[in-house]
Amino acid sequence: AVRVRFAPSPTGFLHLGGLRTALYNYIFAKKHRGSFILRLEDTDQTRLVPGAAENIEDMLEWAGIPPDESPRRGGPAGPYQQSQRLELYARAAEVLLKTGAAYPCFCSPQRLELLKKEALRNRQTPRYDNRCRNLSQGQVAQKLAKEPKPAIRFRLEEEAPAFQDLVYGWNRHEVASVEGDPVILKSDGFPTYHLACVVDDHHMGISHVLRGSEWLVSTSKHLLLYRALGWQPPHFAHLPLLLNKDGRKLSKRQGDIFLEHFAAVGFLPDALLDIITNCGSGFAENQMGRTLPELITQFDVSRITCHSALLDLDKLPEFNRPPACLQLLNVLGHICRLQDLVSPAYSYLWTRPAVGRAQLGAISENVDVIAERVLGLLERSGTGLTQDALNGELKKLSEGLEGTKHSNVMKLLRVALSGQLQGPPVAEMMVSLGPKEVQERIRKVLS
Ligand code: GLU
Repeated sequence: AVRVRFAPSPTGFLHLGGLRTALYNYIFAKKHRGSFILRLEDTDQTRLVPGAAENIEDMLEWAGIPPDESPRRGGPAGPYQQSQRLELYARAAEVLLKTGAAYPCFCSPQRLELLKKEALRNRQTPRYDNRCRNLSQGQVAQKLAKEPKPAIRFRLEEEAPAFQDLVYGWNRHEVASVEGDPVILKSDGFPTYHLACVVDDHHMGISHVLRGSEWLVSTSKHLLLYRALGWQPPHFAHLPLLLNKDGRKLSKRQGDIFLEHFAAVGFLPDALLDIITNCGSGFAENQMGRTLPELITQFDVSRITCHSALLDLDKLPEFNRPPACLQLLNVLGHICRLQDLVSPAYSYLWTRPAVGRAQLGAISENVDVIAERVLGLLERSGTGLTQDALNGELKKLSEGLEGTKHSNVMKLLRVALSGQLQGPPVAEMMVSLGPKEVQERIRKVLS
């Protein structure tokens, strides 16, 4: 069975680069009736960003590509946060120690720092000199007595295995001579990326690894680990770099590339998926306006090229137009003709009403309380409420009020938003105006 994973580190909120990786994994999974798994690689506890884990999962849902298994959803291969899987890494490291494929390293941080400094002074890539590689059993025992929790390093073999990447073709990277033996388990019991990634991909039954091409050179190391652990490796497909249209790496410094930002300013998920797949290859041809189901049927991993994907965000509004029009139709359910848009019932769309406080006070004595609670509701639910969900929430809100009937709460909102006593349903008005504008109009009532 096809099982793929998106494995971000929760060191930041989800941005376009992450979305690209997640999307290709999702499409690949659905194309092959497989599973799409979200795994959080949170082993570097010093770099965690509060809220990032939640944001990543929220934004995948928002984008319409929810994982089948994840920290929030659970699943048969959990837990889905690496920090909760330390036992598994320790066990794998133990096996590697037993077979001699790994060894304890007693080098002090100071010594390693010195090595690094010296290399940099000589303009060389820092490289661990494998000093602890050949300690005798006696030496190890002696050192263990003084330092019972050493780091564990993986003994890199000289001959790295070649592998066939589904995108980049045959590959082999000399790893042993470059960096020296890598630490796989730190002295605090946390694994480093390489070990955690291999152990999890194995135990989670991952069949294909689709990830950014910056990880291509790590793959040889991973294959050595698979071999040393006696495990069958998955297939690999590395995705080309995602660049700005000027050829620079897509980075947070050149404008806001976080999904939350796109959502907040009114870009729709379908537009993002569309623009990403149009620059990212994997399809017989580029074509604007494909829906997610169409992307899934038309996707072909062998059509991914190793050319960088140039993302021209200036074109995003153009990509957003079709889904935005569709959304408009869906939201304004009572529009039958274009000219209805300029009828009095829809004037609320175009002008903010001038509503007197007295007018509202006549509907309910609880104007302030109701307004506060509606504001709170919008604050909590962000951009995401449908009309049905809003109706449910407003109903609940009325039930929690004493002295004002639900119908009057709705009437109050209608007047505050449109200045009129009649018109389209209140939830339709709220969704079509969007939470920001609704908040604005309600705040005016309070002032
Ligand atoms: N945690 C890595 C990242 O942040 C995952 C790399 C991989 O997919 O193996 O990109």
